[in-house]
Amino acid sequence: MIRQCLKTCLLFIALPLFAHAALPQASNVPGGVALVPLGAAVKNAQPPQAWLGDQPILVTPDKGKWFAVVGLPLDMKPGMHTLRTMTNAESATIAFKVKPKKYPEQHITLKDKGKVQLSPEDEARALGEIATIKQLKLHWQPAADTDPAFIIPAKGRLSGRFGLRRVFNGEPRAPHAGIDVAVRSGTTVVASSQGKVLAVDDYFFNGKTIFLDHGNGLITMYCHLDRIDVAAGEPVRKGQPIGLSGQTGRATGPHLHWSVILNGAMVNPRLFLPRGTK
Ligand SMILES: [Zn+2]
Repeated sequence: MIRQCLKTCLLFIALPLFAHAALPQASNVPGGVALVPLGAAVKNAQPPQAWLGDQPILVTPDKGKWFAVVGLPLDMKPGMHTLRTMTNAESATIAFKVKPKKYPEQHITLKDKGKVQLSPEDEARALGEIATIKQLKLHWQPAADTDPAFIIPAKGRLSGRFGLRRVFNGEPRAPHAGIDVAVRSGTTVVASSQGKVLAVDDYFFNGKTIFLDHGNGLITMYCHLDRIDVAAGEPVRKGQPIGLSGQTGRATGPHLHWSVILNGAMVNPRLFLPRGTK
């Protein structure tokens, strides 16, 4: 009886620690997420810390263990990589493997050549925005309630596969570092998870865009919006409407482009959705 009570009580004590325990699916490939175990999650002990290079890494508990949740950039070299960790003031290194992955290629012809061959003014604007976005992607704000169990940000079919290597009018461009949700203009877009609005802007390529910071280097980006209904610094709940979809910026038709950024890496958003999401 006492043993049973102890078991139950321990379960109750342990619950808050696992309140947001919903790890993304592991996929050890460029553009994927590696889950690197960091040992037992002991109540009241300081969580371990982890870094990939100089970039801090999200550490979260699941089923009594700590995991480093590592975003793997699309241009990461396959092979062994090393995490630096700090547990109870002791530093260590842990190796993990990244397997190769070849993403499909797609050729697209754009009639509006102005969006392929940029004028000097547009090019200067786009380059400035790329630098701004790069900084936003590396944003790091510690948070106690990072929740990586995402919901799909608009009701629609998922299209525009992640990692697709696109060639516009014969010129190779950056790979498709997100997924598209096929929706009409004016469809409500909601926050994939709780967090804070990191930035809102109207970009040359991405159009009207919202960045949400979910804490510990986990960020989501919503592009080509018709309307933005939140302001930078505002807290958001999971599922809260944040704007309307559209086709602003470089978009061949109305859709929502949705990206997930983890420790500065653009990773496959599907890994954060319930398995089997269509
Ligand atoms: Zn897209």
